[in-house]
Amino acid sequence: MNLKEKIQSSIEILQQNEPAEGYHLAFSGGKDSIVILHLAKMSGVKYTAYFYMTTLDPPDVLRFIKKYYPEVVWLRPKMSMFQLIEKKGLPIRQKRFCCEVLKECHGHGETVVDGVRAAESFKRSKRKISEVDYKDKSKSFLHAIFNWTEHDVWQFIKSEKLPFPDIYLGCQNRIGCIACPMAQKKAAQDLELYPKFKNAFLKAVRKAKQRGIMKMFADKVENVCRCPFTNGVERLSKQFGFEQN
Ligand code: SF4
Repeated sequence: MNLKEKIQSSIEILQQNEPAEGYHLAFSGGKDSIVILHLAKMSGVKYTAYFYMTTLDPPDVLRFIKKYYPEVVWLRPKMSMFQLIEKKGLPIRQKRFCCEVLKECHGHGETVVDGVRAAESFKRSKRKISEVDYKDKSKSFLHAIFNWTEHDVWQFIKSEKLPFPDIYLGCQNRIGCIACPMAQKKAAQDLELYPKFKNAFLKAVRKAKQRGIMKMFADKVENVCRCPFTNGVERLSKQFGFEQN
């Protein structure tokens, strides 16, 4: 399928599965969610876009959403990530309690449209375009751009002249929580890029240690490596034909 056919297919997926109450559109401010929000507009379906604030959100992304997507509803967590760490310790890959509390709790009883794509990882490629949440059976997902490649996403953004966060012009090609344990290399880079967050992590880890919650020493958080600052503008222009301003 070429991009034109994929756009048409995604629009049809959205139109054919539209729930009477409208979609719950999960909007992170990242490239994939920028695309699904635009496709939802093009398809004419009913939806409300939500941003799940995690308290680990890159400040530039928050500014981007406020500026370009004022219609998005912000869902704020009951507890910040740092309060969670104080209470439960640091999340690890096998124990991502933060995702449960900060993200997965949303969309109960709704059809959630998100930007999950098969090409993102082997694990994601095993998912289906439409699926029921394995934890909350009242909630289902519709991955409207499941078969899109990263190239498709950038081509669409380019052809529709959609704004995107400057963060992509730096060293990152994904947007997400600062220092997420699921992305270890990026986590180390993030701690270097966002010293205020690093200090907040350290403070929370020390408090957890004092409370006897964490056996792991806080130095682990301090063991950061330098961001190998690849030229994001160059990457985007080479791969996807973006012009460098
Ligand atoms: S830090 Fe990672 S694991 Fe935790 S909520 Fe954010 S994305 Fe989920």
